[in-house]
Amino acid sequence: MDNIKSLIRENILSLSPYSSAREEYSGTEGIFLDANENPFGNLNRYPDPNQYRLKQILSSQKKVNLENILIGNGSDEIIDLVQRVFCEPKEDAIIVCPPTYGMYQVYANINDLKLIEIPLTNDFQLNSQAILAQKAKVLYLCSPNNPTGNSLENLEFIIKNFNGIVFLDEAYIDFSNQPSLIEKVKKYPNLIVSQTFSKARGLASSRVGIAYANASIISFLSKVKPPYNVSKLNQESAVNSLSDETMFKNNIALIIKEREKLKSALLEIAFVTKIFPSDANFLLVEMEKSDEVFDALIQKQIITRNRSSVVKNTIRITVGTPKENELLMYTLQLIADEKSIIYR
Ligand SMILES: *Cc1c(COP(=O)(O)O)cnc(C)c1O
Repeated sequence: MDNIKSLIRENILSLSPYSSAREEYSGTEGIFLDANENPFGNLNRYPDPNQYRLKQILSSQKKVNLENILIGNGSDEIIDLVQRVFCEPKEDAIIVCPPTYGMYQVYANINDLKLIEIPLTNDFQLNSQAILAQKAKVLYLCSPNNPTGNSLENLEFIIKNFNGIVFLDEAYIDFSNQPSLIEKVKKYPNLIVSQTFSKARGLASSRVGIAYANASIISFLSKVKPPYNVSKLNQESAVNSLSDETMFKNNIALIIKEREKLKSALLEIAFVTKIFPSDANFLLVEMEKSDEVFDALIQKQIITRNRSSVVKNTIRITVGTPKENELLMYTLQLIADEKSIIYR
């Protein structure tokens, strides 16, 4: 896997990207009459198209170089960018391993790509042989996986042997004991690791995602991304969140503690049949009559995610505040006591 360029679409190889005003003059002092901005106001100037300050902090915290980092408008933008850089519509394929995050497939449909599905095994692990037997430009892996919650094994073996780009989605890695594979982008030229500020950093509303990869991949993704893809407010919110690591760690520790508490409490509920192992901030819970329980929870204004269509008889429950989790458990017990409603 040494020639990344051979995987890139021809029109992207030869693309001259839009050169924005802030790209052509990046100084901060002076009278700016170059970008047709309004001279009055607080948010009147375009944001830094290279998100320099944010990348600088990430670079020192994660021990990777600036040129190995791309900032996206959420990691969803990065999922799409990768397809548009590498995959020719109507010709190329991506591989997904369901049950997993739905956006890989949605973007493949939008970008008119072929979709190869290699389902996870019964214990939600990768079917390595079946994956490596396929030909595709991009393989999407998610670890810890959404909606199952578990971490995937054998990742490095697949990255090493897959003849294409491996997009490793680490949206939930900060809740897990498993190490991130960020530093492996130095070793594997075909690896893209994506992370997000939406989950562990609590900034879902800010829309900030990150891709880590070798400099060549990052430069092609940068060429294709809209110049001002992340607003100034959102860049600042991400920078601010990185300045308080103690709060970040405490917050995660609390969520993990609550997850474990929730797990034991859920097992006490009569209709709960199984809780899948989770390294994330949610639990996939198997139960009798899951559709009815899901509806009954909504009746009581507790909104969970019905995942029965992808994993039989399950709902996915995000770990909330201690108070919210207590209310959830109280309500589930109530539903169990009113069994007649459910088992009618
Ligand atoms: C929530 C989630 C994301 C986050 O996407 P953003 O666009 O960064 O908010 C990415 N991947 C997975 C698997 C997720 O569950």
